[in-house]
Amino acid sequence: MVVQPKVRGFICTTAHAEGCKQNVKNQVNYMKSQLKTNGAKNVLVIGASTGYGLASRIAATYSCGAKTIGVIFDKQASGNRPATAGWYNTAAFEELANQDGFYAKSINGDAFSKEIKEQTIALIKKDLGKVDMVVYSLAAPKRLAEDGTVYSSVLKTTGAPYTNKTIDLKTNQISEITIPQATEEEIEHTIKVMGGEDWKEWIVALKQADAIADNAVTLAYSYIGPKITHPMYLKGSIGMAKDHLYHTAKEITNEFSNSNIKGYISVNKALVTQSSAAIPIVPLYISILYKVMKEKGNHEGCIEQMYRLFHDKLFGDKVVLDAEGRLRPDDLEMQDDVQEAVMKIWNTINNDNVEELADLEGYWEDFYQMFGFHMAEINYEKDIETDIKIPSIEE
Ligand code: NAD
Repeated sequence: MVVQPKVRGFICTTAHAEGCKQNVKNQVNYMKSQLKTNGAKNVLVIGASTGYGLASRIAATYSCGAKTIGVIFDKQASGNRPATAGWYNTAAFEELANQDGFYAKSINGDAFSKEIKEQTIALIKKDLGKVDMVVYSLAAPKRLAEDGTVYSSVLKTTGAPYTNKTIDLKTNQISEITIPQATEEEIEHTIKVMGGEDWKEWIVALKQADAIADNAVTLAYSYIGPKITHPMYLKGSIGMAKDHLYHTAKEITNEFSNSNIKGYISVNKALVTQSSAAIPIVPLYISILYKVMKEKGNHEGCIEQMYRLFHDKLFGDKVVLDAEGRLRPDDLEMQDDVQEAVMKIWNTINNDNVEELADLEGYWEDFYQMFGFHMAEINYEKDIETDIKIPSIEE
């Protein structure tokens, strides 16, 4: 089948199997070209199929030489519908890892559920014994709780409504958007979905099953960003969930101090992923940030971020933390010179100069590439097989 992109707002409803494979290959090749890391050896990545989770899995495998189990939530191809990008990424990753002699298995299902936790733990016990690192990289719009309640996360402010510039990704037009204030219930639900409760449940379940090693580390990802995004991110409903995640990291470290298990938050750079594309204001900020950082020569994608996180900050001579005890691979994004240049552009950007002042092309390249499109090596006119199997998953 010939597969073309079908973009609907901030999502692409198709994915290209060969393009996704190329994308994973490029990330693997990047990791192979870097110095090795003396880090974890048995790694569980929850939310392993795209974005930061996939890059973490590639870093664990190709930099640390780790065996990995990835929990994903993806759909295989059916009829004329291609699989999701995360499905193709996982199939490609496992194939490459296996070729290179690395253990890699995946479990497809809802990471919030008890059933998937049990399946994952059984696989760890059978194949790895214990894990010494757990990466929690979920970005989910919803959580189905054990009692059947569905919690939805919202992207709203927690104070007054907030107005600023945004970009309409359908037309590339800049306009003003007002982000409404979340209700108490919406904030609570966002914390249920994107806060630390489920992360901790994973660690408790692993510990109870004796499937997590002493001295293990566990990471969850967060974002801080510039002041212009604070009312709707850091101080918004999602920020309240990230705050909960931060306190959960501390709780994990305290509660499991007898086993010396350490929980960390890593604050990562703003990048185009399926999740960040959905956040108002952020895509315009990201396209200006890309412009500035590419000009300065310090732009990074998920894979470069995760390499620096693993190699320089987490598994270096010592764990490099900020004053609040967080890992900060967003250090280059938050440098004064970068932020000053971004804000100068932010204040002057409009529909007449947007093409010149923001890296819209770079934004869209990343967007399409997430779904396996716009990869230089791929011929998109060619008929391709869409029904790709993930080696470790029998459907
Ligand atoms: P992403 O959408 O690329 O990845 C999210 C992953 O979670 C996907 O693999 C998805 O399949 C998986 N997932 C979602 N619901 C699931 C479920 N119920 N069960 C199992 N898997 C599920 O997003 P991302 O940007 O890589 O986000 C990962 C983390 O990084 C999030 O915590 C996010 O807030 C954080 N982060 C992102 C950015 C950014 O700019 N993208 C910056 C800093 C931090």
